[in-house]
Amino acid sequence: MNDNSFEKLKTAIERCWKVSDFHRNHWHAHDVADGWVPAAPEELTGLPVVTKQDLLDAQTSTPPWGGNLCIDPVDIAQVHLTSGTSGIGRERYACSASDVNVMGESWGPQFDAIGLKPGDVAVFTIPVSFMCAGLSALEGARIHKLVPLATGIASKRMILDFLTDQQAAYLYGIESFLLQLAAEARDAGLAGRFGSHLKGIQSVGSSPYLIDTMREVFGVSVFEVYGCTQAAAKIATTCHLGVESGTVHFHDEHLYIETRDPETGMTVSEGRANIIISTTYREASPVIRYDMKDSIEVVPAGTCSCGDLRPGYKPGSVARMDSMMKIRGMNVWPQAIEQILLSTPGVSEFRGEAVRKEDGSDDLIIRIRPNEATEALDDMTAALTDTIRKQTMVRPRIEIDRSIPDSDGDYKVRRWQDRRKEEAV
Ligand SMILES: [Zn+2]
Repeated sequence: MNDNSFEKLKTAIERCWKVSDFHRNHWHAHDVADGWVPAAPEELTGLPVVTKQDLLDAQTSTPPWGGNLCIDPVDIAQVHLTSGTSGIGRERYACSASDVNVMGESWGPQFDAIGLKPGDVAVFTIPVSFMCAGLSALEGARIHKLVPLATGIASKRMILDFLTDQQAAYLYGIESFLLQLAAEARDAGLAGRFGSHLKGIQSVGSSPYLIDTMREVFGVSVFEVYGCTQAAAKIATTCHLGVESGTVHFHDEHLYIETRDPETGMTVSEGRANIIISTTYREASPVIRYDMKDSIEVVPAGTCSCGDLRPGYKPGSVARMDSMMKIRGMNVWPQAIEQILLSTPGVSEFRGEAVRKEDGSDDLIIRIRPNEATEALDDMTAALTDTIRKQTMVRPRIEIDRSIPDSDGDYKVRRWQDRRKEEAV
């Protein structure tokens, strides 16, 4: 990250010592000298990281803000809650009017990369609620003068009609919903007939199957965006090359982004890294050194052929750090299985879990909700069992479960559980 963003970070740390009880208490609890501010990026590890649990604990003991509301309550313009899909609670964040503006402005590089112009119609299927993702997209559209159609995930047919009748230029959704929308478009005979007005599809994450399907059905590239409630402003967006050949470039105008080796804590400028973010713009609920628990594959500065010199990460490379499961001695990455399941047209939702059998051995159970039109379920589960076994070296037990709910547009929905850990607690 550049010198300017580090200077902004120093100012944000100085301010937190003064106005954020949460950060002051957190730093004191980790024996940081009162008022200490790192003089150079190399000294930054002198401040401990903040985890989701740290914030939740503070909010439980000092509700509602956990000592991290740093403006007068009358100046709160928006409140965001995290999705709660971790099962341990929802973090709360307040935004001032200025915070909300920055959050909206931070969409600029992405909209420019896609080629969106003021007046273009943008369809947002991420629900607008108390969660940051939907509100952020809507503010982005407002500030950049796009015409926003915030559809939520209500009716796929209505959304497809919006895309054609309103000549939409932009479609934003989570991967599983975009794939469902593509399936509906195929059924309606609309595949490949969306016209040149559509300029790009925005997603969170991007599997090869999503890229191919969006190209085939909607005729455009996918652009991946990386954000979180803690940062509110977008952390990284895809350049004009799209996810096929571009990079998801970092933005450090409003954030300080660290990419570190999860084992050694050393800064990583190429290859796998853990990502830690600090906000340098947030007035109401600042966050200093939040550990995202996400792993990415860093693309070094100056190497993307789009001409943008900023570093970033390889599209589709975001993985949860804490998600690897050891099953029957094998390292199983849920993301690998997820890609297989999401790329199977007959599967509309799923849940996976590792359990311990009575004889003490491990079992991998995957429950699947099939699409209503799917026939030949036995063939599908047999094929999936085989593919997953080849990919992971573990043979899963696949069950049909029609009661699994939709993800409701929540892209961080927790689809995996390790029941063996729960038993051990
Ligand atoms: Zn690029």
